[in-house]
Amino acid sequence: MYRTTWMEVNLDKIADNVRKCREICGKRIIAVLKADAYGCGDSHVAKAVLEAGASMIAVSSVDEALMLRNEGYDGEVLILGMTDPEDVPLLVENRISTAAYSPEWAEAVSAKNCRGLKVHMKVDTGMSRIGFRTNESLKEGFLKLKEAGCSMDGIFTHFCCADTDMEMTDRQYERFRSAVEYLDYPFEWIHCDNSDATVFFKDPISNACRLGISLYGISTYEKSLEYPIALYSTVMMTKHVSKGETIGYGATYTAEGDEIIATVPIGYADGLVRANQGRKVYIDGMLCEITGRVCMDQVMIRLDHDVPFGTPVEIFGPHISIEKMAEELHTIPYEIICLISGRVTRTYIWHGEKVTEENARLLKSEATEL
Ligand SMILES: *Cc1c(COP(=O)(O)O)cnc(C)c1O
Repeated sequence: MYRTTWMEVNLDKIADNVRKCREICGKRIIAVLKADAYGCGDSHVAKAVLEAGASMIAVSSVDEALMLRNEGYDGEVLILGMTDPEDVPLLVENRISTAAYSPEWAEAVSAKNCRGLKVHMKVDTGMSRIGFRTNESLKEGFLKLKEAGCSMDGIFTHFCCADTDMEMTDRQYERFRSAVEYLDYPFEWIHCDNSDATVFFKDPISNACRLGISLYGISTYEKSLEYPIALYSTVMMTKHVSKGETIGYGATYTAEGDEIIATVPIGYADGLVRANQGRKVYIDGMLCEITGRVCMDQVMIRLDHDVPFGTPVEIFGPHISIEKMAEELHTIPYEIICLISGRVTRTYIWHGEKVTEENARLLKSEATEL
């Protein structure tokens, strides 16, 4: 690692979280590894979830599904989001399942050669994002695709309030149940639960659960999951400043007395957004304030006592939870972890051993000739 800013991903703990959720829901697990597994590295997280018994991997786009295929994943993969009907031959060739998400999509796809395309019908039960909105349009789309030779593998919906509103979730579920009964078809995959619904919503119709955020130990209801990820950098320089000296762009922070200021190589280009100014990070037993504006590549932090060069800085991890950080930044844990950029080195723990992967751009530049 050349630049000592890294995200640690403990794949053993991710596997444990899958096993725990699987036990709780008693259904097959679809691991949602969209957006590079929420920034944690889809090919690595895939190894862990598959070892723990996940039956399918879900992603958001054709690109993400193809990346998994390129990395050698041969099992079931489902695109949850929108696809271009033009890409149907690619999906068939690579055995990639996809969401049938609107009447227009079903019309366009069934007009093409889509024989063998693996389809999951998406029902919009209240999220108002993608999916068929009435049982009649759902059936029409279903029949068109089926008659055109698609393989009608599944049906699903997505809850919008599984973390906050049980009544809304119940209403959405009732809509979903009515859609499933209306089609009356022996789908192999029937799924509606996201992470939060997986642990509290026991329904008799679905036969698989879609786990995303709970892979990373984050759950509204289930507190026995483990936290597999942590973000670190290191103190690369410290300095003593005197009362009245200012720190950083815009001189927004002024030392109130003699203070010790550390400079740390992490900034907003790594995903440590500027709103972190004034928040605290963990260094050598201290909770220390980020003073002055967050720069693109660096940040300045006020220390209570001096520390040696190389002392680790925990942004989130054992002492600062992602949930707490999200609350302080007025956002959600998902956004914090997805924004950790490709520049940050990932280190993985797998079967108890540590593996370091250099950042994505360095690897890419080694593979590219000018
Ligand atoms: C992202 C996503 C999930 C996973 O949600 P979590 O809350 O992270 O478990 C499940 N289903 C769909 C359709 C999604 O887009």
